[in-house]
Amino acid sequence: MFREASHLNGFSGNALARLGEAGRPRSVADALASEGASVHLFAEDRALVRVVGEKLSARFTQAEAQSLGLDPDSLIVLGADGQALRLAGLATAPEKQTGIEAVDLRSLAIQGALDPADLAALAQARSTLHWHAQNRYCGRCGDALALNGGGVSRGCAACGTEIFPRIDPVVIMLAIDGDRCLLGRQARFAPGMYSALAGFMEPGETIEEAVRREVKEESGIEIGRVAYYSSQAWPFPSSLMIGCHAEALSTEITYDAAELEDCRWFDREEARLMLAHRHSVGLKTPFKMAIAHHLIASFAD
Ligand SMILES: [Zn+2]
Repeated sequence: MFREASHLNGFSGNALARLGEAGRPRSVADALASEGASVHLFAEDRALVRVVGEKLSARFTQAEAQSLGLDPDSLIVLGADGQALRLAGLATAPEKQTGIEAVDLRSLAIQGALDPADLAALAQARSTLHWHAQNRYCGRCGDALALNGGGVSRGCAACGTEIFPRIDPVVIMLAIDGDRCLLGRQARFAPGMYSALAGFMEPGETIEEAVRREVKEESGIEIGRVAYYSSQAWPFPSSLMIGCHAEALSTEITYDAAELEDCRWFDREEARLMLAHRHSVGLKTPFKMAIAHHLIASFAD
C-alpha cells in the first residue's frame, strides 16, 4: 500500500476490493448467504459495534444481522475482503442486545478502538447507504429506481436513466503568510478549537479557484499559489475533503461573521502548542483523525 500524507487521515486505508462487473453476485441475498460474508450495520447514522475486550468489531454474520433487525431492502455489497464479501445494511429495529452499541463514525475515528480498515469500510458504507436511501425515485420520470450491481448504481426501468453514488468535494485549506498560518473558529466548534477554513466546491471551479474563492469570502485574504497536500473521505454524509496549503498575498483579515466567530493568524510556535494541547489558554486544533490537524501539523513541522 502506498503511504501518502492521506494515510494519516481518519477513514483512510479501506482494504475492500470493489467488485468489477464479472465479480458481482446475482443478488444481495446471494451475497449475504455466500461463504464468509459479513455485514456492517447502521441504526440511522450510527454504526452498530460489538465490544470484544478492549477492541470493537463492526462485522456481523447473516444470522447476527437478522437478529439485530436487518432490513433486507437496504442491503448493498461494499466489496470483497479476499474471497469473503462485505455488505452493509440498515438495522431498522435493532433489539437491545448485550455488548452491542450504536456509535457515530466521528467518535469511532477519535477512539481508535476499531480496525482502521473496517472504519474506512464503515465510511464507505455510511455514504453509500445514505445515497441509496435518498434516491428512491427517478429524477427524470418519477418511477421507482432499482438497485443495480449490488449497489454500484440505481436504474430506472421506465426511461433507462442510471445514476451513481455522488461525492461532494470540499476544499479545506491552510493559508500561509511566511511563518504564520490562518485559522478560524465556528461557533459550533468545541471551546478553544481553531481549524483550517473550508467550503464546498461549486460547479465549474478548479480546486485552486475554489480555495482562492473560499479564503477570500471567509477571511478577506487574497490567495496566490495553491498546493494539494492530502485528502479525506468524510462520510457526513458523503464529502471528499481536499486539503491544500495556500500562499497568502495579503494579511489584513476581514472575516465573515455569518460563517466564523473568529479568524486570525497563528505563528508556528503557537500552532505547535495547540497541536500538542499545551497552549497557555487552552486553544487547540482538531483531533488527529481530521485532515485539518495534519494540514496544520505539516506547516508547524
Ligand atoms: Zn425514469
